[in-house]
Amino acid sequence: MEKFDVLVRGSGCVGRSLALALGARGYRVALLGRAPAAITEAGLAAGRSATPGADVRAYALNAQAVRLLNRLRVWDTLPEDARTPVHDMRVMGDRAGASLQFSAWEQGVGELAHIVDAAALEEQLDAALRFAPHVQRVSAPVPAALEALCEGRESITAQSVHGVQFERHDYGHLGVAGRLVASQPHQGQALQWFRSPDILGMLPFDRPEPGHSYGFVWSLPRERAQAMLAAGPAEFESALMEATGGVLGSLKLAGERQSWPLQLARADRLSGPGWVLLGDAAHLVHPLAGHGLNLGLADVETLVDVITARESWRDLGDEKLLRRYARARIAPTWAMGELTDSLLRGFASQAPVISRLRNEGLRLVDRAGPIKKWLTARALGQ
Ligand SMILES: Cc1cc2nc3c(=O)[nH]c(=O)nc-3n(C[C@H](O)[C@H](O)[C@H](O)COP(=O)(O)OP(=O)(O)OC[C@H]3O[C@@H](n4cnc5c(N)ncnc54)[C@H](O)[C@@H]3O)c2cc1C
Repeated sequence: MEKFDVLVRGSGCVGRSLALALGARGYRVALLGRAPAAITEAGLAAGRSATPGADVRAYALNAQAVRLLNRLRVWDTLPEDARTPVHDMRVMGDRAGASLQFSAWEQGVGELAHIVDAAALEEQLDAALRFAPHVQRVSAPVPAALEALCEGRESITAQSVHGVQFERHDYGHLGVAGRLVASQPHQGQALQWFRSPDILGMLPFDRPEPGHSYGFVWSLPRERAQAMLAAGPAEFESALMEATGGVLGSLKLAGERQSWPLQLARADRLSGPGWVLLGDAAHLVHPLAGHGLNLGLADVETLVDVITARESWRDLGDEKLLRRYARARIAPTWAMGELTDSLLRGFASQAPVISRLRNEGLRLVDRAGPIKKWLTARALGQ
């Protein structure tokens, strides 16, 4: 008999959350991670940050993701300043000045999202795993009824062992991320500028300075991104001042900048006999909508529900059972990939007629209450 029910390959946020969720349901889980020092040559060539420092990203997490983290007892243990609620969001088009405004009040919810410190989230997942029943870390693959592949964008097992093919589109952009302190208070407002071709997101945050910090993600064409990564702090800050039009007051970089290559990618299958794909190993989306991890955590929730509700005679690796998971996840992940991709393409064009349509579209959606409410509810994971 196998000692483990599930082998989770990859211990990013998705793999760790899955191990915790399965362990809590009594499944015997082996978690196969990789030491952070072992960032591969391939990873570096793919543009992954070579900096050994902690992840500088601040994730926008929706209500569904927060509920899962709460159940895993990871949410409440996050330090107060590592999870900041977002009450308003403003999305701006190009220079013609059209904008879309979303508010928690209009939506009838407490907050639109939470901005969470990526490194703090990883730490809390690790802390929870130390006390998790039925979860054992392993350093090499072990036999198990089910293999859950959570290896992220660099996953090799899906391709080399299970023959999964990926449809990939490289946006030719790098996402440059870091932290800032602004002279104006953020008041829980997230901002996003579609500046064609670059997109800048500012997420209100409370680290390092409560009420005045932002996590930024700046999607820039590769060459410009590399120039911005090489620029000194003063030059970088003045480029950000120009991009934000000074609406946040003066801006000071707080800490290092890191970068990630941006792609749209989808696996041609999410499951097979004895294996499933979850998180970035299954689907990569552009971070403009802040949804990659939200999708990955929804994968976790669905898989745990599917295998927990299975007929008593079905094995965990049963192909038909795992197809239920794949069927449930294909539509939402496909829809998010399409949405972000269409937004990107729509905003990339600088043709005057497209720009006029775009701005008109933004104004229309902003005025159309029900459409806006529906769009927001989808993004919130309500
Ligand atoms: C700039 C940027 C900003 C983002 N902002 C947001 C946001 O605001 N909100 C949001 O929801 N999402 C956001 N995302 C997306 C989010 O970062 C990812 O979706 C999420 O980190 C994916 O988690 P994962 O566990 O699937 O993959 P990863 O975090 O990549 O983890 C995979 C793990 O598996 C390991 N691994 C790889 N191969 C093997 C192997 N063969 N054996 C064992 N281990 C292996 C890796 O070392 C790694 O530890 C953003 C992404 C970027 C690039």
